[in-house]
Amino acid sequence: MKKLENKVAIVTGSTKGIGKAIALTLSSEGAKVIINGRSNSTEAGDLVNEIQKKGNTAMFIRADVSKMTEVKEMVNQVLEEYGKIDILVNNAGISRDAFLVEMSQEDWWEVINVNLGGVFNCTKAVIRPMMLQRSGKIINISSITAEFGLRGQCNYASSKAAINGFTRSVAVDLATFGIQVNAVAPGMIATKMTEKLRKIAGNRILPLVFLERFGEPEDVAKVVLFLASDDSNYLTSEIIHVTGGLGAGIGARYWRG
Ligand code: NAP
Repeated sequence: MKKLENKVAIVTGSTKGIGKAIALTLSSEGAKVIINGRSNSTEAGDLVNEIQKKGNTAMFIRADVSKMTEVKEMVNQVLEEYGKIDILVNNAGISRDAFLVEMSQEDWWEVINVNLGGVFNCTKAVIRPMMLQRSGKIINISSITAEFGLRGQCNYASSKAAINGFTRSVAVDLATFGIQVNAVAPGMIATKMTEKLRKIAGNRILPLVFLERFGEPEDVAKVVLFLASDDSNYLTSEIIHVTGGLGAGIGARYWRG
């Protein structure tokens, strides 16, 4: 028996990177997966085809997670199609790096609205059906940056630190309804988002990773699978770090470089 047989999972921001790996991993364990992204990309269609070719179920729903109306439409569409939502992975995220002195208000609010606003919108939209069924798994993708900051990322680090607070608070709110809320905080994972950073600072960051390599999206996806499955039924309000050891406080000092 597969771990997520008959489960329905929404994975936001899953057309590429970590979200795509999560969608592939959850579907390989039997979940019906909703692929989501802000744009109608060919990547989304390719991913749905890839999952279906393996005999699993997936559909793409375009929605900007920072817009509540679009999120509600996405959730309603999922409920119409499958009648329930068992798993929500709040993965969609962006970065708009700049030193504070040069950061525009647009770049501040866009990151806050997508990364944090998106988590609020999607969680709020799914919790009523989850409360009625008295079960649910909500997994938020945070970042190690939440804890020790990173040069030029005050908007991003603030959004992720807030996600940790949100995770811990909502876990308390929803515990009595059988809903578990946890977060995964990745370190440096090889995706489009970190391409530039790895190029300009990779040689300084890599020596701080105990396991001596940057993470792959699948490294994060496997931990998300654990949190989405019955294997984690006695876990809530946790922030699980997936960093290969990067993240000891000393890291921040080196990174200032
Ligand atoms: P990525 O490769 O840039 O992919 C981001 C995904 O999010 C894309 O599918 C994108 O779709 C979607 N997205 C962006 N804005 C959206 C919006 N407003 N509404 C819906 N979807 C949206 O990023 P990644 O590296 O995989 O990161 C995924 C998550 O992990 C993010 O939350 C990120 O902060 C977190 N994280 C990443 C790392 C890392 O090292 N990579 C480390 C720590 C945490 P479109 O292309 O259609 O916009």
